[in-house]
Amino acid sequence: MYHTYLIKYGEIGIKGNNRHVFEDALVKRIKEALTPVDGEFNITKERGRIYVHCEGDWDPDETVEALQHVFGIVGICPVEVCPADSYESLRDGMLAYVKNEHPGSDETFKVKVRRPNKDFPMKSPDVEAELGHDILENFPAMTVDVHHPQILFDVEIRDVAYIYSKIIPGPGGMPVGTNGRAMLCLSGGIDSPVAGYMIAKRGVTIDAVYFHAPPYTSERARQKVVDLARIVSRYSGPIRLHVVNFTDIQLYIYDQCPHEELTIIMRRYMMRIAEHFAKEDNDLGIITGESIGQVASQTMQSLLCTNAVCTLPVYRPLIGFDKEEIVRISKKIGTFETSILPYEDCCTIFVAKHPVTRPILSVIERSETHLTEKIDQMVEEAISTTETILVQ
Ligand code: ATP
Ligand code: MG
Repeated sequence: MYHTYLIKYGEIGIKGNNRHVFEDALVKRIKEALTPVDGEFNITKERGRIYVHCEGDWDPDETVEALQHVFGIVGICPVEVCPADSYESLRDGMLAYVKNEHPGSDETFKVKVRRPNKDFPMKSPDVEAELGHDILENFPAMTVDVHHPQILFDVEIRDVAYIYSKIIPGPGGMPVGTNGRAMLCLSGGIDSPVAGYMIAKRGVTIDAVYFHAPPYTSERARQKVVDLARIVSRYSGPIRLHVVNFTDIQLYIYDQCPHEELTIIMRRYMMRIAEHFAKEDNDLGIITGESIGQVASQTMQSLLCTNAVCTLPVYRPLIGFDKEEIVRISKKIGTFETSILPYEDCCTIFVAKHPVTRPILSVIERSETHLTEKIDQMVEEAISTTETILVQ
């Protein structure tokens, strides 16, 4: 059982002077992700490396699972830590490691040594040769292959030495908190949680807004959205979720506007309200789960009409994805099972039999003039009665 994990991170390594900002964000997210895991975790930072040291009663599987939710991590390596005071210490550490991790192995191997600690008395190639020699002597079934080894033993000689050969893949991406924030329009469907995940993966902090229509949509439908936000928050960190009561607006649109335009007009009001909260939360954009042509409200013409009410950029990370591709990601990130629970969505309750698929902006805008009498007040009411919850 190893007490230390070496955290490998990718893209953030190339950020020059901003590097410490990225590393600090990564450390912060690692701490957050490990908070619900039993055990004590001490996270240390050395140039180009982050280590998680585990103490107390900790569960390695849970620890690795939590780390696999932290964007910015490309690899999690369980490491053997041994003193770096002499070659003999390294050798003993290495032999113990091979015995534990590769018992009875007849595979090919190579040893790769890095030596940031220049006080260590031997040069890296010499340490590689000596360790290779000692492994061969103690594990005669193993052989050396320097070109295509089945096992690569990495040794890093710092104040202490770190030995590892296994890299558990992390989620990649960039640490959340390094790229501003954005407002996710989160419904109970398959797409929007995936959209939120994808933008968070680029380092963006996520806020969210959900429109419900009680009593047409149930408490269970609302809870489902909270549950989805919670699953996404395992990756993104805590999410501020605004739950907007959209019933009166929806009914008013239903009364005043042509039914085939209902969905588009409704979507325009959702975006207006989403933008209100986005600005309040200092968000730099809005995120949706839209994909071209998926439904009538996502044709190019429909997207143009919806987009026209926004002044903030609208990010649609799924825009070119087929449904199967989106489903694949939702299964991978763990939202799929919750997304397919059959509770009604506020969009589906008032859908027209034949929604327009090629809406014309000027026509939609003209239809919206039928709402002028009451709509501003209703939007204000919806905003002022919105419930905001912190999901984590
Ligand atoms: P999803 O699977 O994400 O629900 P969908 O295929 O059902 O998407 P639409 O209902 O047209 O598509 O919604 C398109 C996008 O609009 C959603 O991905 C989401 O970002 C946003 N959206 C739709 N309904 C709501 C809602 N009730 N609350 C918040 N955002 C919503
Ligand atoms: Mg939906």
